[in-house]
Amino acid sequence: MFKALVVNKDEDSGKTSAAVETLSLDQLPDAEVTVAVDYSTVNYKDGLCIGPGGGLVRRYPHVPGIDFAGTVEASNDDRYKPGDKVVLTGWRVGEAHWGGYSQKARVRADWLVPLPEGIDTRQAMAVGTAGFTAMLSVMALEDHGLTPDRGPVLVTGAAGGVGSVATAILANLGYDVAAVTGRPETAEYLTALGATQIVPREELNETVKRPLESENWAGCIDAVGGAMLARVLGQMKYGGSVAAVGLAGGAGLPATVIPFLLRGVNLLGIDSVMQPYDNRLRAWQRVATDLPMEKLEAMVQPATLSDLPKLGADILQGQVKGRVVVDLN
Ligand code: NDP
Repeated sequence: MFKALVVNKDEDSGKTSAAVETLSLDQLPDAEVTVAVDYSTVNYKDGLCIGPGGGLVRRYPHVPGIDFAGTVEASNDDRYKPGDKVVLTGWRVGEAHWGGYSQKARVRADWLVPLPEGIDTRQAMAVGTAGFTAMLSVMALEDHGLTPDRGPVLVTGAAGGVGSVATAILANLGYDVAAVTGRPETAEYLTALGATQIVPREELNETVKRPLESENWAGCIDAVGGAMLARVLGQMKYGGSVAAVGLAGGAGLPATVIPFLLRGVNLLGIDSVMQPYDNRLRAWQRVATDLPMEKLEAMVQPATLSDLPKLGADILQGQVKGRVVVDLN
């Protein structure tokens, strides 16, 4: 028997409710690898799946948790054996499949990544989907020619999960990082992660009035989308790239094509869910080498299963700072 956060749906009212329940191994879905989960995290999508679902959850009862790290307990696949340390992000685990808010999880071997040397299961979840995605974004910007001598890099939603890890990685790689936040009280935190400029959210969240503004940023990691992304496109330096990661500020894009046509700006889409295995390995290796672990520790807020209903609501309100690490034991 083991504990998990289970979301149930009342068929009459259509309302969902989440509570910690005791489950048995035979209730887990069929798949090749059973993992004893050490840690999970809270991402924006988790907020949706702990709550009304946001259209992501297919069936109830449901166990959310879009990422986890732990130890293989049983495996029908040659790639994994009991005792192996593994991490999982994406593949719609925690949405379409039962996820990491559980002391045991059963998943497909293809979805797992062996934990890289130098990172333990707690650190892997301090990074989590948000940090992994921040690393994918840095890699995409580099692949499009970004180097520290090109100029400052903007990070939007900087005090959130993706933004915090992106700020720390970029600063560690020698970039001048401008951090956009709507919470002025996080300025000290962001500076400690390595930001050299704090940009108040109000400066960037007004709708585009002029398609081109002064050329400020060599690159951008954008967790916000909407009007802010549209404004940022018009402020990019010639040939600069924006990694579009999130929609915390909206899914629309009220922009013009002028920055693409007159400044050769690149808009790079970042998806962490369906990333091919080789790129996952590359990103986790880069996390191990390029993210200073003491900065990662400064982002962590610890939690347990019973804290999750509140934390899920908080992250949907943009009120979580850095990374929540959920200890399953
Ligand atoms: P967080 O809630 O931790 O961070 C989002 C941050 O965005 C907030 O902390 C806040 O930062 C800022 N923000 C929130 N609301 C608004 C608003 N209305 N206008 C402007 N800024 C706002 O979430 P995550 O970092 O985990 O995820 C960020 C986004 O990235 C989400 O949309 C998520 O769905 C997406 N995502 C996408 C992935 C992919 O594969 N493409 C993977 C992981 C996440 P501050 O207080 O500093 O302003």
